[in-house]
Amino acid sequence: PSKGFVGLQDLDNLAKNSFPLCMRHLFFNLRHEHHLKFGGRQQLGLFLKGIGLKLEDALNFWRSEFTVKMTTEKFDKEYGYSIRHNFGKEGKRVDYTPYSCMKIITSTPGVGDHHGCPYRHFSQENLRSVLEDQQLSSRTVDAVMEKVRNRHYQLACATTFEAIHGCPSDGINHPNQYFEQSRRALQG
Ligand code: SF4
Repeated sequence: PSKGFVGLQDLDNLAKNSFPLCMRHLFFNLRHEHHLKFGGRQQLGLFLKGIGLKLEDALNFWRSEFTVKMTTEKFDKEYGYSIRHNFGKEGKRVDYTPYSCMKIITSTPGVGDHHGCPYRHFSQENLRSVLEDQQLSSRTVDAVMEKVRNRHYQLACATTFEAIHGCPSDGINHPNQYFEQSRRALQG
């Protein structure tokens, strides 16, 4: 569901301003650790494709991070294939769809994984501190945490969206839909 193309130079700003928490968390972990495990690569990679990052840029993006810690040959051999695969350029040539909130919320990240939904998978303490880093008021943070306690993760995400953007959301059921709504809200 892409509207136009997104270039590599735009990614950090978009991640900061328009990615939902699940994707921000993956993106900035990748930037800091120069690695993501399989579940994270899939969740973030398909999302980035959905916002309009082209295959060549996607390969350059992942390669530039991963090769901080490994050779280009190793990257191309072990990781390049699955990126092209997600774009339908390998194997069965299916153009894979970015994950919905439901799929992400019901995933089961293990130790060392960064995929999943922060509202569902972070500890309360960790989630609270991430929300506070986003400059949300303590009243908003409390409202989000209450929705989380009631297991309304997507409502918690919508409340965060509304506080950050200062406008109502249409409800959140897909990270790419969060992104589109954010771009609309910020571009007016
Ligand atoms: Fe991501 Fe959806 Fe969770 Fe929001 S509710 S953080 S968009 S998975």
